[in-house]
Amino acid sequence: MADRPEPRKMRVLGSRRVTPSMLRMTLGGADIVDFPAGQQGSYVKLMLPSEDGAPKPVVRTYTIRQQRESELDIDFALHGNGRTGIATKWALEAGIGEEIVLGGPGPAKPLPSGFDHYSIAGDMTALPAISVNLEALPQHATGCGDRSAKRRRSSGS
Ligand SMILES: Cc1cc2nc3c(=O)[nH]c(=O)nc-3n(C[C@H](O)[C@H](O)[C@H](O)COP(=O)(O)OP(=O)(O)OC[C@H]3O[C@@H](n4cnc5c(N)ncnc54)[C@H](O)[C@@H]3O)c2cc1C
Repeated sequence: MADRPEPRKMRVLGSRRVTPSMLRMTLGGADIVDFPAGQQGSYVKLMLPSEDGAPKPVVRTYTIRQQRESELDIDFALHGNGRTGIATKWALEAGIGEEIVLGGPGPAKPLPSGFDHYSIAGDMTALPAISVNLEALPQHATGCGDRSAKRRRSSGS
């Protein structure tokens, strides 16, 4: 079995809303130097300080949405139910330069090749992985959205 990569200390380089309910955070810093390339769609483990002061970090899983030479983008779904978990709260409050410990990466799950049709479904938290998979489809691939959702939008229900 391959050795698990040592957790890395990363720093927040920036954050911006890509939609009202999705926050994109860019991470980088010195420890990214040996981060393997081509990890879009892989997952990382954010190790967050526990709110009750317990020594063990609180661990949450996120997808690498995009990777550049010395930067990773992670998209945080902001749930509309008003309740915010520790990772979402951290993403909303973290300032430039703030440190975060990152475990991984763990392997991506690309779509199997060779099929004519794919059905892909997920909630907001799966959008980063779905987006990476859609970007990897060949240029000639076609698709259609969720027609029932479109009907619901146009009828206002
Ligand atoms: C392989 C993998 C990759 C993932 N990639 C991403 C990613 O790229 N982006 C991303 O945003 N999430 C991703 N997730 C999901 C993310 O790990 C969870 O949403 C995580 O629990 C959020 O942590 P939190 O501390 O903010 O909230 P938690 O403490 O876990 O939950 C607190 C509250 O947040 C709300 N909540 C949490 N998850 C959901 C949900 N799915 N739907 C509605 N309400 C919810 C609930 O009200 C819950 O009570 C991924 C999960 C896995 C397993």
